[in-house]
Amino acid sequence: MSGWKTRLRVSDLADDDRLELLCRKCGQSRYLVKAELEARKADQLYLDEVERRAMCRVFGCKGRMRMALIRSHKVSAFVGGMA
Ligand SMILES: [Zn+2]
Repeated sequence: MSGWKTRLRVSDLADDDRLELLCRKCGQSRYLVKAELEARKADQLYLDEVERRAMCRVFGCKGRMRMALIRSHKVSAFVGGMA
């Protein structure tokens, strides 16, 4: 389950895909959607780059984030096809 982040770009995401970012330090999570990343001109970034740039927003934490892709429709297809 490591290769997909280096193969998928933000522009490959579906509009209703969500990226869940979970703080490795304090456990706080937040979600990113494609439109949000496009608005930051990040649509050509690979997902592992998005993960590396992500930082926890909890005051004083600034922990590294772990990213998961959440697809509302093709969950089983994603796990089987992209793992
Ligand atoms: Zn945190």
